Amino acid sequence: MEIKEYVKERKAYLTDLINHLPVPPKLVIIQVNEDEASMAYIRGKIKDLSTINANYEHIKLPLDISEEALLSVIEQYNHDETVDGILVQMPLPKGIDEEKVKEAVTPLKDVDGFHPLSSYIPCTPKGIIDYLENEKIEFSGKNAVVIGRSNIVGKPMAKLLLNKNCNVTVLHSKTTKEDMAFYLKHADIVVVAVGRKYFIDEQELKKSAVIVDVGINRVDGILYGDCRPNLDVKLQTPVPGGVGLLTRLSMLENLILCYKKRRGLKDEF
Ligand code: NAP
Repeated sequence: MEIKEYVKERKAYLTDLINHLPVPPKLVIIQVNEDEASMAYIRGKIKDLSTINANYEHIKLPLDISEEALLSVIEQYNHDETVDGILVQMPLPKGIDEEKVKEAVTPLKDVDGFHPLSSYIPCTPKGIIDYLENEKIEFSGKNAVVIGRSNIVGKPMAKLLLNKNCNVTVLHSKTTKEDMAFYLKHADIVVVAVGRKYFIDEQELKKSAVIVDVGINRVDGILYGDCRPNLDVKLQTPVPGGVGLLTRLSMLENLILCYKKRRGLKDEF
């Protein structure tokens, strides 16, 4: 199924599911920046929440808020029985420890899946697996290369691919050019999460390879992925309109899982 159609169908399913709940799930979005990209992400999230009839509260905090004050706002929502999910939009102002903030959100309401003890899978890797499953990509025994090792994309991605029985290699900024070329040449699935426009360009790839482009690079107001478009491969996810769509969908699914888990309901769809 075409990916946009898949997302549309999933959203229709989630809307129906929410319409049958006694009260809709509620997400609190906490924003402590005036970053243009963050504002666009938040607008997208609010649009998605409205589409599926979920509730939300968008809180903008002053840029000079102290770490302690921010943690206490999060704590307040951790204890608020009417709130099912909490999302703190990154980045945060300098001087606030992002890891501390991620760990302050109770794992029960952690829709981003950032908490080390979270029951939820981070949205981007989860969305990528859904994307590839929708495309009927085979995983078992395939050589998967993940470029990037962040806690929110690269590392959880590698774990999910390993769980799918791929042979997984994780590459990063200390990988030599020669090794990068070697692993790419043999890869069946490549997930690129580096954050550099057209990081994958002329490198040799299998014609049968599947390239998942996670990158979002804004240059002069235009969005670019980490991969040059139209690589000579079997499948390449576009930017925009690729992984980002599924990341957004995963957040909605995690919110509903939070809602169900908090109420002791079966946490499956
Ligand atoms: P990040 O935390 O900055 O991590 C980047 C990773 O790339 C690091 O592990 C870094 O290696 C590696 N790297 C940097 N330069 C490299 C090089 N020359 N060769 C090989 N590896 C290199 O970024 P992130 O949060 O994972 O995000 C990555 C990209 O995905 C960004 O463009 C971000 O905007 C985008 N993103 C998109 C979505 C979506 O929904 N589409 C979601 C999340 C992120 P070291 O660890 O050695 O420094």
